[in-house]
Amino acid sequence: MAEQWIYLDGQHVTKENAKVSVFDHGFLYGDGIFEGIRIYNGNIFKCKEHLDRLYDSAKSIMLDIPLTYDEMLEAMAETIRLNDMRNGYIRLIVSRGPGNLGLDPRRCPKASVIIIVEQLAIYPEQAYINGLRAVSVSQRRNIPDALNPKIKSLNYLNNILVKIQSNLAEADEAIMMNAQGYVTEGSGDNIFIIKNGVVFTPPCYLGALEGITRLAIIELCEKLGLKLKEEPFTMHDVYIADEVFFTGTAAEVIAAREIDGRIIGEGHAGPITLKLLEEFRNVVDKDGYKVWE
Ligand code: PMP
Repeated sequence: MAEQWIYLDGQHVTKENAKVSVFDHGFLYGDGIFEGIRIYNGNIFKCKEHLDRLYDSAKSIMLDIPLTYDEMLEAMAETIRLNDMRNGYIRLIVSRGPGNLGLDPRRCPKASVIIIVEQLAIYPEQAYINGLRAVSVSQRRNIPDALNPKIKSLNYLNNILVKIQSNLAEADEAIMMNAQGYVTEGSGDNIFIIKNGVVFTPPCYLGALEGITRLAIIELCEKLGLKLKEEPFTMHDVYIADEVFFTGTAAEVIAAREIDGRIIGEGHAGPITLKLLEEFRNVVDKDGYKVWE
């Protein structure tokens, strides 16, 4: 197998040599941010949107990324070329960097930047037709005034605890609610429901990441002339929806066939979900930044 090259603080190193300090506050405290991006046929899908979200997350947590926007883009493109990657997944990580055991970020003089590119197949193709089994979980989404879910931070314990709950229920995905009982998102994906031809997704201020795939789906709904509403809804609305689907960089657009024991629609991916998936896959290698021409 070809060598996997990883960008680590300005250098490309092999996987075996890609090591960070145990004093890095990303490791000690989850202090940092990240992005998950896809490359399709040599095109970094919605590259600008992902980089904007990275720099916005950094600003929000007062983390100085030691690379300019253009340098980050070049580092990413270079890592993709070195790994001869046309289709795959890109993980950008910026941690607060090495400090001491105290949590004060002023003790971390320089943020660390890591770029990993990898092959990816999260769900088998059949799952996009059959749909997933999902459960709602009792663990609430972080409240925005504690740790805003709009920040794509390295602190994913909220999501991991939710994943543990859905694993215990032997489900494929979890649905998180906020403290008021409104649906927010999945463990690592945004959520949409469809009722009588109208597409609904929760507003992100309720406690969800502003997903880039979510944005792409909102754009596609507009293009297809589908009515879309960003408004709060509860699990009741999810149970009685005609279609439910999740969106995310890794998962793309994937239906739920059963939620908390309720069969959704016909019990497999519905026609609007499949249409949106098809349209989504038509744009992923066009809308973005081309690394390979
Ligand atoms: N919500 C959470 C909590 C996520 O981690 C992600 C990314 N995996 C998403 C939503 C989807 O965001 P995107 O479409 O930008 O990947």
